[in-house]
Order: sequence, then C-alpha cells, then structure tokens
Amino acid sequence: MDGKKLEYKGDEALKEIERLTQQPGLVQESLLKDILIKNHGTEYLEQYMGGSMDVSDFKKVVPVITYKGIYPYIRRIANGEGSNLITGQKITEMICSSGTSAGEPKLMPSIAEDLDRRTFLYNLIMPIINQYLPGLDQGKAMYLCFVKAETTTPCGLPVRAVLTSYYKSPHFRLRPHDPFNDHTSPDRVILCNDGYQSMYCQLLSGLIQRQHVLRLGAVFASAFLRGVSFLESNWTTLCHDIESGSLNEGITDADCRESMAEILPGPNPALAREIREICGAGSWRGILCKLWPRAKYIEAVVTGSMAQYIPSLEYYNGGKLKLVCPMYASSESYFGVNLNPFCDPEDVVFTLLPNMCYFEFIKLGENGTLMLDSDEDKEVPVQKLVDLVHVKLGCFYELVVTTYAGLYRYRVGDVLQVAGFHNKSPQFRFICRRNVVLSIDNDKTNEDDLHRSVTAAKKLLESLDTMLVEYTSYADTSSVPGHYVLYWEMKRGGPPDKTDPARRDSPLSYDDVLRECCIAIEEHLDYTYRRCRAFDRSIGPLEIRVVKAGMFEKLMDFAITRGGSSINQYKTPRCLKSTEAVKLLDSNVEASFFSPRDPTWIP
Ligand code: AMP
Repeated sequence: MDGKKLEYKGDEALKEIERLTQQPGLVQESLLKDILIKNHGTEYLEQYMGGSMDVSDFKKVVPVITYKGIYPYIRRIANGEGSNLITGQKITEMICSSGTSAGEPKLMPSIAEDLDRRTFLYNLIMPIINQYLPGLDQGKAMYLCFVKAETTTPCGLPVRAVLTSYYKSPHFRLRPHDPFNDHTSPDRVILCNDGYQSMYCQLLSGLIQRQHVLRLGAVFASAFLRGVSFLESNWTTLCHDIESGSLNEGITDADCRESMAEILPGPNPALAREIREICGAGSWRGILCKLWPRAKYIEAVVTGSMAQYIPSLEYYNGGKLKLVCPMYASSESYFGVNLNPFCDPEDVVFTLLPNMCYFEFIKLGENGTLMLDSDEDKEVPVQKLVDLVHVKLGCFYELVVTTYAGLYRYRVGDVLQVAGFHNKSPQFRFICRRNVVLSIDNDKTNEDDLHRSVTAAKKLLESLDTMLVEYTSYADTSSVPGHYVLYWEMKRGGPPDKTDPARRDSPLSYDDVLRECCIAIEEHLDYTYRRCRAFDRSIGPLEIRVVKAGMFEKLMDFAITRGGSSINQYKTPRCLKSTEAVKLLDSNVEASFFSPRDPTWIP
C-alpha cells in the first residue's frame, strides 16, 4: 500500500472513499494482480498455479479453504520455515483471532504493510463521523482500549491479538497529534498488560476529564459494558483517589503510575463529591450522560452478536446517546466502514473497501439460514464464488478473502446480506457467524435464529422488572433426547414503575415467567426444531439455567486466560463448545426451568 495514503485525513479521506467505491471492480482486480505478482512464487500458490500470475488462473484453480487448509503452513512458519511458504513478504507477526481451532486460537499471518491498511481504515472513521457531527475536535474521547500479553511462536514470531498489534505499533504510538482522536486514556495505560490496572486507570482518567469528554466507547459493546460494570464496583475507590490526589496502591505498574501522575496532579475533593453524588444516587439508568454530560455518542460494535448489548447500553445512557457502530474488521483483514454512523443499530451496513483485501462471496440460500454447508470440511466449488461487484441486492453470502499476507480464498466464517450500494460498491448487513449452531437432530440453529428467539422471549422478563444481561447456549446431549440449554444471567432493574403497563406486576410467578421464556424461545426457533421437538420427539424441552451474577465476566476471564482473545476482542460465544466453560457455568446455576409444553408445529 502506498505509504502516503496513511495521511488521508478529513476531506481527503472522504474523497478517497468516493474514489474507491466508484470503481471497486478495478481496484479489486489490480489488488489481486498485485498479490499474485508478489506471492506467485510461494509454495502454497505454486502447487495450484505452477508459478502463473494470471488472475483467471487463480480464479479457476485456487481452492476455497477454512483454517484447516492453511494451518499446516502456519504451523511450519511458526516453527521456523520461511514466510515464503505463503507470502512474498516477511511475516512479522501472527495475529491470534478470537476463533479457535481444536481448542487453540487461530493464528493469522501478518506482514508489515497490514498495519498501513488497518491505519488507513481507522483514519477514515472520524472524517466520516465529522460530516454528521462536527466539533469533535473540541474535546476528548473516553475510548477504552486494551492490550493482551503477547507470546511467541517456537521460532520467535510475536503472537498478538490484532488490536494489541495496532496499539503497540509505531502507527499508533508515534501518530501525530490529531484533535479528532484525543483520548483521555494515556497510551502507556492502554499498553499495560494487566487488564485490571489498565481499566482502573482508564476510567480514572475518563472521570477526571469528564467535562472534556465528547464521546465514549470501546471496540466492542461488551468491552464498554465491562467498563461500566467495573465502574459500578470501583467508583468509591476511584473517588477516593480523585479526592486525595493519589493513585490507589493496587496500581503497581510503573508506566500506569507515571502517566497517571500527570493526570492526577493533586487532591480534587469537589470533583470526587460530584462523582459520588452521581454514582451513589441509586439507579444507574442514564448514568453515562450524568458522568460525561458533554458526551454525544457511544462508539462500539453493536451488530451481530453484540446486538444483545443494546438494551444495556440504552439503560446506562438513558436512551440519550446514539450508538455508533463504525467498522467491520477481523484478524484476517479489515473489511469496511459504516458510512451512515448515526443510523439505528438495526440499519447498520458496512461498505467494504476494495483496497483492503480481495473479497469473494459464497452464495447462500434464500433466507441466509439455509447455509451452503454448515459443514466446515465440505468442499466449496470455486464456480460458486462471486466477486465483490457481482453480488446481488438482498442475497446472503459467506465472506471469503485473499490477503497479501498469505490467506487465499479463506472463509472468514461471517454471513452477510447485501443491503444496498454506495456508488458502485455493495454494502452489507452483518448477519451472523457461520457455524455458530445448536444442533441435536436435523435442526440447525444459527446465531441469528437463537438471537431472534431470545430477543422475543426476554420481553417477558419486563413483567418481573428484570433484564437479561448475557446469554449463551449449549446442546446438552448427556441425556436422551438431547435438549437446548440456555444460560441466562439476569439483573433486576430499578424499582418497578407501576404506571408503565409493561412493568406492571405480573400475575405469573417468577418461575412461571421463566418457564414461559423457555417456550417462547422454542416458538421462535425454526420449523425443523419445532418438528423435532413436537413431532419426532428427538429433542427434549428447552431449559434455561439462571446463573449467578457476574458469571459471564468469569466466562470472559476464562476465555481470555485460555484463548487468544483480549478484552477488546472478546465476544461471548453464543454457543459453548468447551466442556470446561460449560462446567464453569453449571457449577454456578441458581435455578433451572424447562419448557412446560410442546411448541406449535403444523405439518
Ligand atoms: P477476530 O477474529 O477476533 O478479529 O474477530 C473478527 C470477527 O468479529 C469478524 O469475523 C466478525 O464475526 C466479528 N465482527 C467484527 N466486526 C464486526 C461488526 N462490526 N459487526 C459484527 N461482527 C463483527
């Protein structure tokens, strides 16, 4: 990538988006050509293309793969064989994604210029937002960012989470001052490997600078809410630090202490009192706008599995702050941006940027739930692939990418739907991750089905003035027939508002409401599920296991210690695959409820 492009700012950035989206076909073809020029001599491509650099040869012969297809090469590179097994450039690090393969985090090759591409995309976000909300250069962002401790491969290549890679890179650390990206968190605090200390200091900085904060956020909604929950548990200590002007002794990291010394110059009892009054006033509904009164919006990914956090975000912001979901990216490559950042979360679409990687698409069935193959190992004929410029409005596709760093026709695992066009570039709605399914018999429930069913069922909780904080699921086949288990963590709201009809005391008991939630989920699952359940009897009644408060944070800690994820990237798995994770939740179940009757099923 042309180094100059890093500098695209403001109007230049917007012009570049226009240029790229007006001729996506040309940009894509020349990008693929360039990848083949640079990488045609690699062992991987040679076996299929015999050294050819021809785009049409590539399209004819290079197979569509999953991680299994590239893993043998990744393993050899990790063990010390050259980068040229898969790429013409030097692999500088392995990016560990939040996905796992055989219980281990997936490793994605990354080359130096990938950082340029990621930076390029980041640099588009504020110019896009500025078109709709100018003035954000007049204050700060309290944006929670975290790194995760890195490891190395046997041959010494760093293994990092993608955001850790970016925050540690000169692109981030040595960036020129940008008034649109003036963060309350000092860089050295962001770079602290200890998530607790980093979070504490970032919230402390955000609170001290509360009158300057114009926007709030984190990469994913889950990480932002983790920050709010941390604040709920630690505001008294944070206020104590502000009052006394001295940092809690639990913060031992030298970089954190030094950088916080600049932000916490002396005692500020008045500020501590203000914050105590707000935090100690009872309900936390709308707390974000009280703590950060000038904040205009919350920036976080709220699409896909993150959509379930929207009610919590709205609770804490009192429905006053817009949620901005700025981009779509992964460890394999960054993909695209949301050009209409202040739209409602359900309307978010991403315009894929044709200079990020080579995009292809596997066409899926009519409603997207009908996957071409939910079986990872099933071969996808290359003729089934569609280019970026040939996708059709309304159709569902699975994303396949080819990168400079050595992934060729790699199935990312995301299901997208074409929702419109910007200039000539298609815009996609994120639907779900492929293969996040519950299956007992012929039924195949994907993440989206599950999410829709839970969303419908959780409305019943309103009568108990309770909200669903988090959920995950598990196909319990330990008894016959197997059944779906949903783990729910719930939280009581404020005192019930008796004038609100939705919140009037329910005539049903708590237990009855939970049983009704079970059947409501079943009623919203698809035809095959209901047939298996009510006719074939091959699936037993769905069960909700209510877990103790804080269990999903424990699950996150568990995943972070075990897997390759960091707080930034962590996404609650909608379906548990690890038996240890199931055990962790099972040993903290407060009560369990089963569906009281069969779901409707009409042949
Ligand atoms: P990772 O491999 O850990 O970097 O995670 C990348 C995955 O996160 C993507 O493939 C998507 O499944 C998900 N993801 C990233 N951005 C978004 C977004 N804006 N909306 C929904 N899901 C997203």
